[in-house]
Amino acid sequence: RLHRYIADSRRDFLHKTSTKIAKNHSLIYVEDLKVSNMSASASGTKESPGKNVRQKSGLNRSILDQGWYSFFRMLSYKLKQRGGKLIKVDPRNTSRTCPRCGLVSAENRKSQATFACIGCGFRSNADEVGAINVLRAGRARLACGMSGAVRPLSAGTQRDRLQH
Ligand SMILES: [Zn+2]
Repeated sequence: RLHRYIADSRRDFLHKTSTKIAKNHSLIYVEDLKVSNMSASASGTKESPGKNVRQKSGLNRSILDQGWYSFFRMLSYKLKQRGGKLIKVDPRNTSRTCPRCGLVSAENRKSQATFACIGCGFRSNADEVGAINVLRAGRARLACGMSGAVRPLSAGTQRDRLQH
């Protein structure tokens, strides 16, 4: 009974939150988190024990607790019903790329909270940097998918254009 109560409460929270967000935004960009990868065991093997096991297990718990998969699914259909869109972007390097100079380095990420570019010295909150990079990647993806403007021409199209 307790498990059902917790599950119902979580579902209710996810529904209310996704409805509220979908009502107030038409375009939402999110990292396409591979939830199953992220929640994989961090304990590693006997030969190569996992790093940050304690932090990782805490992260696993919070990812699973918050039900990201259900949340994104709800958000996606609620946006669609209102003519909006949820756009997922590749999460690679979103936390390591400097939004000022573009340098990609694991060393840019000083800690969970701090981003400090080793190239140009740009400093900011790591979550804000991640959000900027997700927004840029999402806009690029949207522009590409909608207009085809940055798609390379196929060989046939290119030949046709050259002839005319
Ligand atoms: Zn930089």
